[in-house]
Amino acid sequence: MQTNHFSNLLTSVRFRGKGFQPVNLPPESTTATSNQEQLAGFNQDALRKAKIFFVGAGGIVGNLLISLVRKGLGWAGVADRDDVELGNLGRQHFFPEDIGQNKAICLSRHAIRHASWPCEIAAYPMWAQDAMAKGLVPKPSAVFDGPDNDETRVAMSRHFHNICPIIHVGIGLKADHFYVFLETPTGPCFGCLFPGAIKTGRQPCPGVPQLLDLLLIANGYTMVALDSVLMARPINWNYYDCYPNGSIPTRPIMIEKRKDCPLCGQK
Ligand SMILES: [Zn+2]
Repeated sequence: MQTNHFSNLLTSVRFRGKGFQPVNLPPESTTATSNQEQLAGFNQDALRKAKIFFVGAGGIVGNLLISLVRKGLGWAGVADRDDVELGNLGRQHFFPEDIGQNKAICLSRHAIRHASWPCEIAAYPMWAQDAMAKGLVPKPSAVFDGPDNDETRVAMSRHFHNICPIIHVGIGLKADHFYVFLETPTGPCFGCLFPGAIKTGRQPCPGVPQLLDLLLIANGYTMVALDSVLMARPINWNYYDCYPNGSIPTRPIMIEKRKDCPLCGQK
């Protein structure tokens, strides 16, 4: 049973990191991120100026947030009302002393230590919908949508479709596959992809199997999708459904808008 604790009273906790660069670094010096900056189209400034809102602070978002601040992200907001449990520790970035504490706050506290460049992480110990309703979340450059239920994915699609790109990540119920779906203001929405999800509002399934392998592979694709919306690093897909064991061939797909979409279609 949940007890009232300190994090229930908070609206947000901010963590700031200075990054890994020495003070007064001369121009043209090697930095923590010089290596990736040599890549065609890579834009470190775009990543440093980006504001990314992360929905959830569990398996999908945890590894991703840490990877992105390490890559040089400048601002992140993270919303999750759940508390850390022992069963999370085999694949999520928490430690025994975090058990019983809010996931968004614990994850942000750990992630800020990975910041390559100056970074702020705002942790919202509440559901993403509540953080948005309270006006706590600044307009993001993109949203990473990694909750454990379609109801939240639909809510994010409804709210952000015309505002900024949304990268949805979902893990199969048997932890045998994942999908990454890049939703942009001019393209299809979550309802175009899964029209049935709008009607059912499927509830989360606690206790379903999860595996770190799948989360890490999914994170790579989500980071590639984010580069494509922040930088001149185009991709030729907006949907990737991946079975790492090869049981179903994986290929990039371009999903199209549905005229009869229950979310964005003409009424
Ligand atoms: Zn749609």
